[in-house]
Amino acid sequence: MRTSEIAKRFVTYFEKQGHLVMPSASLISPNPTTLFTIAGMVPFIPYLLGEQTPPSRRMTSNQKCVRTLDIDEVGKTTRHGTFFQMLGNFSIGDYFKKEAIHYAWDLLTSPQDQGGYGFEKDKLWVTTYTDDEEARSLWKTEGMDPEHMQVLGMEDNFWTTGGPGPGGPCTEIYVDRGPEYGPDGGPIASESRYIEIWDLVFENFEVDNVKSKTNLHIVGELANKNIDTGMGLERVAYLLQGKQNIYETDEIFPVIEEAERLSGRKYGDDPEDDVRFRVVADHVRSALMIMGDGVRPSNEGRGYVLRRLIRRSIRAMKMLGVEQEVFPHLLPVSEAQMKLSYPELESSFAEVSETAFGEEAAFRRTLDQGSTILDVAISQAKKDASEKGQEQPVVSGKEAFTLHDTYGFPIELTTEIAREQGVGVDDRSFRELMAEQKQRARADALKKRHNVDLSVYDDAKKALAKPIEFTGYKEFSSRGT
Ligand code: ATP
Repeated sequence: MRTSEIAKRFVTYFEKQGHLVMPSASLISPNPTTLFTIAGMVPFIPYLLGEQTPPSRRMTSNQKCVRTLDIDEVGKTTRHGTFFQMLGNFSIGDYFKKEAIHYAWDLLTSPQDQGGYGFEKDKLWVTTYTDDEEARSLWKTEGMDPEHMQVLGMEDNFWTTGGPGPGGPCTEIYVDRGPEYGPDGGPIASESRYIEIWDLVFENFEVDNVKSKTNLHIVGELANKNIDTGMGLERVAYLLQGKQNIYETDEIFPVIEEAERLSGRKYGDDPEDDVRFRVVADHVRSALMIMGDGVRPSNEGRGYVLRRLIRRSIRAMKMLGVEQEVFPHLLPVSEAQMKLSYPELESSFAEVSETAFGEEAAFRRTLDQGSTILDVAISQAKKDASEKGQEQPVVSGKEAFTLHDTYGFPIELTTEIAREQGVGVDDRSFRELMAEQKQRARADALKKRHNVDLSVYDDAKKALAKPIEFTGYKEFSSRGT
C-alpha cells in the first residue's frame, strides 16, 4: 500500500466517524518555543486548552512534522526521520477512551479490502499507564491479547504540555516485527523488534508541579476531556510495505536509487554506506519540505537547521564518493514523490531549487577551503596523542575556532568529520573562545552610538591626549607666500 493511500485511509476512516478533515498546518511552528511543528496536535493546542472554539469537536489531520533532536540517529534507527507525517484524530470534549481505543483497533485490524490496514491481531502490542485499568479493560474487550499489554510509568506514558494545565495518561500501540529483529518480551524488551506506531493520549486531568515528570501532581479531573492521537505514517508504511525501515518506503527510496546511480555504489552492500544513503534520502526530503514552507538557509533558527540538513546531505554524498553537485539530481527526485501528496510544492519549486543549488555551491567552497586545514589538524591531533600516549586524539578548541571564524566551517561539521576518524574536538575551549569573541563584539558595539561607529574618532582622541604644538602662524605664513 502506497504511503499516500495509507494517509487517505486514515482520514477517510475518521471522516466516516464524523470527524472534520483539517489540512496540515505549516511546518513553521505557531508556538514560539519550538522552531518546527513537531506533532499533529500542535495546531490544535488552543482547542485542547479550551482557549478557542474548534470548528468541530471531532477532527482529523495528516500533519507535516520536523524533529531534529535525534538528527545523529537518522539512518541508524529504522524509525526516525527528521521530516515525517503524523496522522491524528482529535476529540475536543466529545468522545473519550472507549471510542478512541475502538477506532484505533478497528482501523488497524480491519481487512485491507474493507478500508483498514489489515494488521494481524497477534502482532499488535500496547503499553498503558501504570494505573489505567480502564484502558487495559477496553483493549481486552476489543480483542487484544492480555499478554500483549505492558505497563509503563509517568516518564513514558503520561502526557503534559510541559507546564501546568491539561495532561493525562496515554496508551501506545506497537507492531511486532518478529524474532529475527530482537528478543521476545514486548516493547519493554526491544524497541527495534516492537515498533511504536500510534500514541493515544487521554487528556482528563489538570496537572501542576510538572517540572519533574515523575513527581507530577494531579490537581483533579477536567470537565472537558480530550483525545489527541498521533500515528506515524512512515512507520506504518514501512511495516505494510514489508520494508526494513522508513527510508525504504515509496516516498523516500527513489532518492536512494538516484544516490546509487550518482555514486555507482549499491544500497545494501556496506552497512556504513547504507547509513549515508539513508541520511541523504531523509535530509533531502526534509530540506525540500522545509523550503516548501518558506524557510531559507541562514545562520540561525530554522534557517540554520535547513542549512545543516543540506550540508549533511552533501557530506554524506561525498563520503559515498560523489564529488559533483548533488542537489540538482536529488531534489527533483524527492519533489516528484512528495508533490503527489503536496501538489503546492510545484509552484515554488523553481525558486526552492535555485536556493538549494546556490547553498550547495557556497558550501562546496567552504568545504574546499576548510577541509585541508582540518585534515592537518586531525593528523596533528593523532600524532600528539600517540606521542603523549593519550587514548583519545583531540583537535584543539583554538583550531576549531579558527576554522569557524576564518573559514566559515561550522563546529558541528568539524566535530562530525573528526568523529568519523576517531578524533574528538575540545568543545569546551571552543565555546570559551566563542564567548570571548562575543564579548569583544559587545564591547565594540558599546563604542557605537545610535548605529554610528565612533571608532573613527579614536585616532583624533589619541592625538588630543598629547600636548598640541601651535604651528598656525608658520604654516599659514608659508602657505600665504
Ligand atoms: P519514539 O519513542 O519511537 O521516538 P515518540 O514517543 O517520540 O516515538 P510520539 O511523540 O508519541 O512518538 O509521536 C507519535 C507517533 O509519531 C509515534 O508513535 C511514531 O509512530 C511517530 N513518530 C514520532 N517521531 C517520529 C520520527 N522522528 N520519525 C517518524 N515517525 C515518528
